[in-house]
Amino acid sequence: MTRRQKAPPAPPRFRGHAELRDSLARALMRETLPATVLVHGMPGCGKQSLALWLARTRLCTGDSAPCDDCTSCRLALRLEHPDIHWYFPLPRPKGSPSPQRLAELLETARHERLAEFRGQPLRAEDGTAVKGIYLATVLAIRRLAHRLPAMSREQFFVVGNAEHLVPQEASPEAANALLKLLEEPPDASRFILTSSKPGSLLDTIRSRALPIHLPALSHPEVAAFLEEECGAEPDAANRAASLAQGSIGAALGYLDADANPSRERDRALALLRTITGGRRADSYRAALDFKPAGARGLLDLLASLQLWIRDLGAAALGREDRVVNRGELPFLRETARRLKIVPHQVAHAVSQVEEARMLAQGNVNPQLFMATLLLDLEETLKPPTAR
Ligand SMILES: [Zn+2]
Repeated sequence: MTRRQKAPPAPPRFRGHAELRDSLARALMRETLPATVLVHGMPGCGKQSLALWLARTRLCTGDSAPCDDCTSCRLALRLEHPDIHWYFPLPRPKGSPSPQRLAELLETARHERLAEFRGQPLRAEDGTAVKGIYLATVLAIRRLAHRLPAMSREQFFVVGNAEHLVPQEASPEAANALLKLLEEPPDASRFILTSSKPGSLLDTIRSRALPIHLPALSHPEVAAFLEEECGAEPDAANRAASLAQGSIGAALGYLDADANPSRERDRALALLRTITGGRRADSYRAALDFKPAGARGLLDLLASLQLWIRDLGAAALGREDRVVNRGELPFLRETARRLKIVPHQVAHAVSQVEEARMLAQGNVNPQLFMATLLLDLEETLKPPTAR
């Protein structure tokens, strides 16, 4: 048995973005990559994976970096590299511990999360908890950054979802402490920040970092990832990829939801039936069924609704091969015919739901918000005579 077979299973290979990675690898080789970079792009498109890949590539001691086989690569793949420090937002520990105790609690929580990640690298993250990157963590980073690397010529600090540097209780301390560090980075320390909301970072931090945009993956790339790395069935992979719109993180969530596959899908279908078949009062009534708080919990439902509307569009165009929810073809066909659905209506309805998804990230009242959305969709999809 070779050494490689004995090693624990490696996390999935980083996928896609070959061109971008080539140019980053070249910049590393020529020593032209600045000490601080900011990887930005939509949630779940692989920013932190890219950051870890970049660190692993730089610290690789093999021939073609990253070789995945040298000691450095193997430690990095197991998330055990002493010179790759990965930080991310965590829930705030309960109570009001002393600053030192808070730092310890956060460090313990970080190691627990890393251990979870090692065991289950493809688990979708719980997106609902309030999390932050606190001053205590930034101070810990600063201490480490001023020490020499443990085994390599450089050390990396990956700060994922860096927009959480200003936690909700709104003191800019953590961001300012990081800024001081980035202004005069210690020689052997490099920083990779990632963010899906780079606009929420302090301007002064943004201006210190080289921005690298990571685009969304294509639907086939996401589906292939789910099949090859997660062993998903082609149908499930395809469905999750359609819902996820380029985000592997989101796709993993939909794949997980397969254990309970139909709940959001059925709720979304019920809404579509109300919009297209019911009366105005029915849409109001459907909106009142939502709890008055917790709009973020609607994100999956809205993604499902969007997919149903796309399916309606595919059915209207006679492109039934593109319908994802194939079990409901008769309903989709009948509705498309009855309402004389045309492509621009579908495009408009999809963008209305997209806007709603953006809004749902914020602090909106789900009842009001869903009432507005359902009535808007009704107006878009139904001819005036059918309302
Ligand atoms: Zn290597």
